[in-house]
Amino acid sequence: MDNFRFTELLPRAPHGAKMRRLSAEGVHLSGEGAAAALEIDPGVLEALAYEAFKEINFFLRPDHLAQLRKILDDPEASANDKYVALDLLKNANVASGGVLPMCQDTGTAIIYAKRGHRVLTDGTDAEQLSRGIYNAYKDLNLRYSQLSPTTLWDEVNTRSNLPAEIDISLGQGPSYELLFMAKGGGSANKSFLYQETKSILDEERMLAFLREKIESIGTAACPPYHLAVVIGGTSAEFAMKTAKLASTHYLDTMPTTGSAEGHGYRDVDFEAKVLDLTTKIGFGAQFGGKYFCHDVRVIRLPRHAGSLPIAIAVSCSADRQVFATINADGVFIEELEHDPARFIPETGLDAITDESAAVSIDLGRPMAEIRSQLSECSVGTRVSLTGKMVVARDVAHAKFRQRLEAGEGLPQYLLDHPVYYAGPAKTPEGMATGSFGPTTAGRMDGYVEALQAAGGSLVMLAKGNRAPAVAQSCKAHGGFYLGSVGGPAARLAQDNIRSIEVIDYAELGMEAVFLIEVENFPAFVIVDDKGNDFFNLHASKPLNLGPTRLLP
Ligand code: SF4
Repeated sequence: MDNFRFTELLPRAPHGAKMRRLSAEGVHLSGEGAAAALEIDPGVLEALAYEAFKEINFFLRPDHLAQLRKILDDPEASANDKYVALDLLKNANVASGGVLPMCQDTGTAIIYAKRGHRVLTDGTDAEQLSRGIYNAYKDLNLRYSQLSPTTLWDEVNTRSNLPAEIDISLGQGPSYELLFMAKGGGSANKSFLYQETKSILDEERMLAFLREKIESIGTAACPPYHLAVVIGGTSAEFAMKTAKLASTHYLDTMPTTGSAEGHGYRDVDFEAKVLDLTTKIGFGAQFGGKYFCHDVRVIRLPRHAGSLPIAIAVSCSADRQVFATINADGVFIEELEHDPARFIPETGLDAITDESAAVSIDLGRPMAEIRSQLSECSVGTRVSLTGKMVVARDVAHAKFRQRLEAGEGLPQYLLDHPVYYAGPAKTPEGMATGSFGPTTAGRMDGYVEALQAAGGSLVMLAKGNRAPAVAQSCKAHGGFYLGSVGGPAARLAQDNIRSIEVIDYAELGMEAVFLIEVENFPAFVIVDDKGNDFFNLHASKPLNLGPTRLLP
């Protein structure tokens, strides 16, 4: 008996997002009836990719903004949850001006597409899409983040943000469906794969497993997150890809029940249980509270009897994705929110921001005095920084370590000023700086002990949690780590950064060392000179940061 049945692994109904037509030009139906084919002129894909990356770097989905607003309205949200949510809404409002992108990390350009079997192009689809990405990153105030290997150990910035990751598969009929994403490094780094076994395939053990793994994600990717969990998968890499797609809500319209057919499905009941779990972790929206996640997607996939891949991924506060469709009626793109201010309440904002609750720190004083004032603040204290800071990130830190190893000592600026781990987007004409939020502090963890022992990096500022070695070093050398809200890069550029100049390693582009002047720059004391760590105090147990945390 032939019991052949075909099923897609990820069946999904149409997404239902509100779309707007970009153009009716450049697309034509040729032929008739079932033989009709959609012809797409050269230039259409390029123009669409340009528009898509412009849209997602400056605008967010209305649903995402509504979730931020929900935090402000929730009496159970912590004061810090509300502070972060309001900051992110204000940031969305600044970015919607179309000048400062919402985040300084304008991401790796990623496109997933399904090209219908009756769609005709000249066959250079990936090249045309790449051209559109190239033009968008060149024309707009976006950042070039892609490094190309010239040897095993040497890299150069491609200065175009290419290459993009473009994945085009076969779809049905005369239409072309696309999903555009701009994935930041901090967010991409929070994608995890675990090769587990049937032994955890029950609710209690799975929740215990997920709790530990979700805690280990930490706050470095700028929560609140859209969290995706995939249980099962015909291969490890398929589980990972599914998790990434689920985090963008691409799979929201999958079936919600399983069957004997072998397709994947979305488990809405278990999503609610995992979301509940995330509210109890304690991290909240970065500095304590219940909003570690906006929402959770759980996708259950078929698997080989001997494998149980479990994949976890997040979409961060720069929740940058947009659907597009090309069909006989034209080129359509998902409608993102161009008026995010409508989500900001008209009253009650002073109670959330309450500037008088922050301790003002004058960075114009000698480091010893700055540290002495910080020493009186307990972890979790909100501070407001005014004065000069050095900006240095990954490559500069590798160079500082080389100097120490060569016996040259640290540059004086690293002893005199706090160091902010960041790398700006392009500076718009007439402005002091481009979008300029913090980068993930954890990547610099491996340098801290050596730098602090040499008298540098005694006050650090960035985002996310840190390895226990950082708290130990701060205790030994009298250092501090301050956490800046991750995500609101456009607002920081507009409201808090007054000037910027390159002071070292100019050839490194966005990785150069800068001196910046800030005013009322908001931050929280996360690690103090007694070795206290705010996140460990809030986690249910000391953080298991795992082997991927140390990336010097
Ligand atoms: S919001 Fe945070 S995690 Fe997301 S791209 Fe920006 S810096 Fe990276």
